[in-house]
Amino acid sequence: MTTSFGPSYVRAIAPYVAGKPISEVAREFGLDEARIVKLASNENPLGMPESAKTAMAQAASELGRYPDANAFELKAALSAQYDVPADWITLGNGSNDILELAAHAFVEKNQSVVYAQYSFAVYALATQGLGARAIVVPAVQYGHDLDAMLAAISDDTRLVFVANPNNPTGTFIDGPTIEAFLSKVPRHVAVVLDEAYTEYLSADKRYDSIAWVRRYPNLLVSRTFSKAFGLAGLRVGFAIAQPELTDLMNRLRQPFNVNTLAQAAAIAALNDKPFLQKSAELNAQGYQRLTQAFDKLGLEYVPSHGNFVLVRVGNDDGAGNRVNLELLKQGVIVRPVGSYGLPQWLRVTIGLPEENEAFIAALEKTLATA
Ligand SMILES: *Cc1c(COP(=O)(O)O)cnc(C)c1O
Repeated sequence: MTTSFGPSYVRAIAPYVAGKPISEVAREFGLDEARIVKLASNENPLGMPESAKTAMAQAASELGRYPDANAFELKAALSAQYDVPADWITLGNGSNDILELAAHAFVEKNQSVVYAQYSFAVYALATQGLGARAIVVPAVQYGHDLDAMLAAISDDTRLVFVANPNNPTGTFIDGPTIEAFLSKVPRHVAVVLDEAYTEYLSADKRYDSIAWVRRYPNLLVSRTFSKAFGLAGLRVGFAIAQPELTDLMNRLRQPFNVNTLAQAAAIAALNDKPFLQKSAELNAQGYQRLTQAFDKLGLEYVPSHGNFVLVRVGNDDGAGNRVNLELLKQGVIVRPVGSYGLPQWLRVTIGLPEENEAFIAALEKTLATA
């Protein structure tokens, strides 16, 4: 008899593929760790802000105690920053935790969740982990088709995930279009608006999603400290929503899901405007440089509003993995996106100028000999 533990919907899940760690690539390819460039996980190439390091060092003496389960100070800082009451905020162990919590808090097993083709992998994981039905709406130009997503909402739909900008494609939907969508979504369907890259948006692209949270009781805005704030390793994300949704998430949340060091660092990073500004500027310059190189190489890419670019490196379905392997041999780690149904493409995080140059040189070399 073959044993099969666990529900069939859990066995059907394809595990999340993370960016390869530097140490692993060094071991596998016999390279010096110091010379490896990692542009695979959309981390901030500046690393952690100094302000956050200082705050963590101060908090380190408290680690014998449990974290503040309600994260009073971090919530107060977020409440002041975004002008919402503290009881509209839910903290997560990264915003991945928020996305999972939302699925568990709003959806039952026999109900459905709507999200777009080529959208963030965690939407599928959170849906499948419940045994709920996924309604995956075909993308248009690699981005969300909000009209089609609206039309796809069925009687049993309880949640829609919208990523803006989207990962891994970098596509962006303007504010008025999102608000028009929100105004038409039935009120018993929660909308998670995942804004992991919002701090990278140029001034002309910004919109006030927190104002929509005040207007739409079914809207939850999700943000993270992992990208522009530079704290990916600490795992802090947060959600802003009206108390009805927030209260449900808080019932399910692990009481100590955000640790003491993470809480302290997040407060410091939130208030470090110069760091955010520098991160956004560096990103804009790096975007220009990478896309200029892609243009020169005649490579198609999707115009991006995040800190990464999706680039097509060949016209056959082996291209992504093949080019990725050649880049790895040269000590450059990017992200193949075959698991997203994009086997001809690679996603590259925008790095420091010298990291971008190393990637471009390795890519040019690979394509010249392909
Ligand atoms: C990176 C990312 C997240 C969050 O990551 P955490 O580190 O868990 O906060 C969420 N959504 C999208 C679209 C992302 O790209």
